[in-house]
Amino acid sequence: MRGKGAPETIAAVATPPGRGGIGIIRISGPQVAEIATALLGAIPRPRQAVYQSFRDPGDGPIDTGIALYFPAPGSFTGEDILELHGHGGPVVMDMLLASVMHLGARAARPGEFSERAFLNGKLDLAQAEAIADLIESDTQQAARSAHRSLQGQFSRQVHTLTDGLTELRAYVEAAIDFPDEEVDFLSHSDLEAGIERVSTQLEAILAGAYQGALLRDGMSVVIAGRPNVGKSSLLNALAGHDSAIVTEVPGTTRDVLRERIQLDGMPVHILDTAGLRDTQDQVEKLGIQRAWDAIADADAILLVLDDQHGLGEGERVILERLPEAPERLIVHNKIDLTGREPSLGEEPWGEAVYVSARTGAGMDLLTDHLKGIMGFTGEAGTFIARRRHLEALRAARQCVAAAYGHLLVERAGELVAEDLRQAQQHLGEITGELTSDDLLGRIFATFCIGK
Ligand code: GDP
Repeated sequence: MRGKGAPETIAAVATPPGRGGIGIIRISGPQVAEIATALLGAIPRPRQAVYQSFRDPGDGPIDTGIALYFPAPGSFTGEDILELHGHGGPVVMDMLLASVMHLGARAARPGEFSERAFLNGKLDLAQAEAIADLIESDTQQAARSAHRSLQGQFSRQVHTLTDGLTELRAYVEAAIDFPDEEVDFLSHSDLEAGIERVSTQLEAILAGAYQGALLRDGMSVVIAGRPNVGKSSLLNALAGHDSAIVTEVPGTTRDVLRERIQLDGMPVHILDTAGLRDTQDQVEKLGIQRAWDAIADADAILLVLDDQHGLGEGERVILERLPEAPERLIVHNKIDLTGREPSLGEEPWGEAVYVSARTGAGMDLLTDHLKGIMGFTGEAGTFIARRRHLEALRAARQCVAAAYGHLLVERAGELVAEDLRQAQQHLGEITGELTSDDLLGRIFATFCIGK
């Protein structure tokens, strides 16, 4: 469909499946006028709600509801759009959709409406992604941030940066065109200052995008430790309700339990793992293997121990086996039994916190530390971003740094120009100006149908 030729007309139920007061069918494409005439008797007046009967030309009336017509190009997709707001029952919706398809539309693929909006220049890629993120957001802060991205806050910053790079490139390319004066051109402090300015802007956007990606994806925290030290209790204390099984028999948590909680709006995926110990029980063994798999992928690991016993051989074995990458925190639990005060500090085996999952003492130290690990500031005004945006921004940063080096050290105009061009290329991937069809296809395929 990204090729040439007239696009097909697409249709889908835009409301979630199930029963509700209203169900909406969305149709977009060149055949909308024809379908409207057949189904409604006439094309509705643009952008005005008309209450009327929806009638299958062969089969008679299906439903009565509101029809809305948005002629191209003033519509979401930039094409003619018809929305039929009928009664939200699955059978009614199926009948209406079948009629619309019978009249020439085909079923829309996931995200195809947004994809067309993007291809027709109604939204850029970061904005289209923000629609999906807004719909999928789990926290109010994530929803607000996604809305800001949808409004173009993120894209505008990327464009400002791209404009800055374009100016610098023009300057450097002009210098290359006058070989005799190239070195003079390149040693001009304006150019150096220009690259520094772009680099500062890039850092600021990256910091914002990082917060945005945390809001969207959150961090994953693994709770590990020997049986019965209070891992499930800690998970419950963090989550604020009982979700894991807490018992006094060692080895109860045989699988990896997942819980999603919020720390100031940042989603945190907590994984409570099977007690890490040597066992002959086959089921438990499997649970322990899954625990190690989860540990390998985590952002942070909480190694829980019972403060009554302190850090023993069992914990040492686990600590030695822990991978380097994720942040780790040793959690001394059950301080209500040892009478110790809640605290956080550096110890021979690393950072340690003293808490009681039962009384909640020290839990604030633990959650603040988790936010700190991710550099989460929870700042207002954040826009939503994805990991792929972060990667593109980081790649652009590398190119700008290379440009700076090539300017200051080699005074090599050709290289500087090429670095700047590549930086621009990476930024173009964010807004979709320079994104491959393949990646576009993959991005839109993750959207839901009717979006
Ligand atoms: P897990 O096997 O590591 O998941 O441990 P559980 O969360 O199932 O807890 C094992 C036992 O320790 C249970 O009887 C809990 O009630 C108890 N426990 C957990 N945390 C605390 C705590 O902070 N203080 C006290 N006194 N008991 C705790």
